[in-house]
Amino acid sequence: MNYAVALVPGDGIGPEVVLQATAVLDALGDRYGHVFNYVELEAGGKALDTAGEPLPKSALEAARQCDALLLGAVGGPQWDTLPGHLRPEQALLGLRAGLGVFANLRPASLLPQLRAACPLKDEVLIAGNPTGQAGFDLLIVRELTGGLYFGKRGRNNDNTVAFDTETYSRQEIERVLRTAYRAAMTRGKKLCVVDKANVLESSRLWREVAAIVSEDYPAVETSYMYVDNCAMQLIRAPGRFDVIVTSNLFGDILSDEASVLTGSIGMLPSASLGSPDDPAAKHGHPMGIYEPIHGSAPDIAGKDIANPLGAILSGALMLRYSFGLEKEAAAVEAAVNSVLDAGLRTRDIAGLNAPSIENPERIVGTRDMGDAVLKALEM
Ligand code: NAD
Repeated sequence: MNYAVALVPGDGIGPEVVLQATAVLDALGDRYGHVFNYVELEAGGKALDTAGEPLPKSALEAARQCDALLLGAVGGPQWDTLPGHLRPEQALLGLRAGLGVFANLRPASLLPQLRAACPLKDEVLIAGNPTGQAGFDLLIVRELTGGLYFGKRGRNNDNTVAFDTETYSRQEIERVLRTAYRAAMTRGKKLCVVDKANVLESSRLWREVAAIVSEDYPAVETSYMYVDNCAMQLIRAPGRFDVIVTSNLFGDILSDEASVLTGSIGMLPSASLGSPDDPAAKHGHPMGIYEPIHGSAPDIAGKDIANPLGAILSGALMLRYSFGLEKEAAAVEAAVNSVLDAGLRTRDIAGLNAPSIENPERIVGTRDMGDAVLKALEM
């Protein structure tokens, strides 16, 4: 099968890590009989330098023609003094709006090879974990285009009062819930709706809609939790969660909390998905923007030391969610796991576990880490 992948390498370490991600996708394609046709686009700082705007219309139009978009990172100090509408980050907002993505998926799991990166004690990691092991493997699905960040806001005439509004329609809630249920079906089949329904009317609407949508997914066990309790449970028993679905504001906060439990920012992928029913969706799967959660890391750009695993794992999410290639996605994840097992570390994830005698830790650069994942895929 042929897939068109829009590619925004972006700024700073973006191009370095995206290069490794596409190399892994190509190797996987050779092995499983898929072809990934890349359409490279300029957006972010690079587009500001060449076209004078962070997201040229032509780039967005070209992205819309593709099946999915893989992005490195945008931004850097050289563009920091530009006015708001000319900041590289505007490209991200424009791409999200233009591609109709509304659900942000952030997986967070504790890899045993990086155990020491997690500040939690073993007993906390075992509590509530159905595997009985010290660890967790959860997915936070955050509503991305509604709620408090997009609601009516303002100040009164004498500037003594300010307000922001949390507004959600049934349709906005339903589509993100369905995305979360579909994800839960590919995982542990547990979904926790996180809200503040004891106080907020919008949260009560979330519960009403969830009660209806849940009937379409009888195989998934649905539960509800207040956000303040969820913030505590994430550091008291993270292993009890499979998929968490929540609003824009709560998801913003909880996904950062969860990422701190996993160690390096360089390891974590993300996906932002639209609806499989959208006309832009191809292959019966949603259009998605896939990117590591880290930024452009200008402090380490061009030094061949950035961790490419977050970008490589973002490629795996693209295979899973936009192309429905679960086996291939799992193969990439297994390859990453095996290079970590073999002791390979980029600098940011070095020294996080007691060295193993069979596989002593070996510090490698961006390219060598990518090559090691390629080799592991071939085995
Ligand atoms: P950052 O994520 O770029 O860097 C934070 C720290 O983590 C730095 O010390 C960096 O060296 C390190 N780091 C990040 N990714 C790494 C990797 N793959 N391997 C090893 N170390 C890594 O965050 P920042 O410094 O706050 O932002 C830098 C620029 O990136 C800013 O212009 C910001 O606006 C932009 N940014 C872009 C995105 C995006 O494109 N989605 C997200 C966040 C920040």
